[in-house]
Amino acid sequence: MLNVEILPVRKRLFIGLLGFSLVGVGLLLSGIWYLATSDTRTLIDQILLLALAGLLVGALVVACFGTGGIILTLLYAKDITVLHGPMRVALNLFFPIALALGGVFHIDQNRIKSSFIEVNNQLVRSKEFNLLPTQILVLAPHCLQWSECPHKITVDIDNCRRCGRCSVNKLLALRDQYGIHVNMATGGTLARKFVREYRPRAIVAIACERDLTSGIQDSNPIPVLGVTNERPFGPCFNTEIRIEKVEEAVLFFMQRS
Ligand code: SF4
Repeated sequence: MLNVEILPVRKRLFIGLLGFSLVGVGLLLSGIWYLATSDTRTLIDQILLLALAGLLVGALVVACFGTGGIILTLLYAKDITVLHGPMRVALNLFFPIALALGGVFHIDQNRIKSSFIEVNNQLVRSKEFNLLPTQILVLAPHCLQWSECPHKITVDIDNCRRCGRCSVNKLLALRDQYGIHVNMATGGTLARKFVREYRPRAIVAIACERDLTSGIQDSNPIPVLGVTNERPFGPCFNTEIRIEKVEEAVLFFMQRS
């Protein structure tokens, strides 16, 4: 069914910047075309320019299909399998451009990243999953752990004594309830190690906007639902999560929501 409320503001921001970057590429293409057809160019120059223009046309076509696919998927909440490739290109390749454009227009980078995460989440939610709990990996950041906790949970999350002082306790309860994998990662390297080890079919990632955007891109093509953490004491310190959001994402992948 068509979602006529159209795209919420957070998603619109990313899509808008994506569209704007397409216009930029289009203008560049027009310039190249103009140079290629200019009478003052040598033959070799023209061939080179035409080859470049050909490449850009190809990229533009892929990007147009990708952006179109993203918009249609968001509007109709339906997966368009045939456009997965171009959508992935548009989402991941054009994201840095969208960020750079946001910098030019003084748009908060976290807002753009948050918008990217929203778009990614909705694209993932347009697909159907019916996974076993063991095929789902929940990756959480180390900063969820209470800063004065003496237990080394990054070595082994079961070192947590479940005192309830931080959200790690709730994550372990979720793991025990559903039988999913849950791990704490201090960074991208450790996160990639867990992905190699567990070979999940889907990931629920908890992190700040910056780490989530890079994690989503790194994990491609594994579907990732991103849940941003809450930072009442500032970044990377005693952060918190709303466990209902993590549980809802897990249940979605198990098709029990
Ligand atoms: S819940 Fe676990 S990780 Fe958190 S403070 Fe208590 S023992 Fe440490």
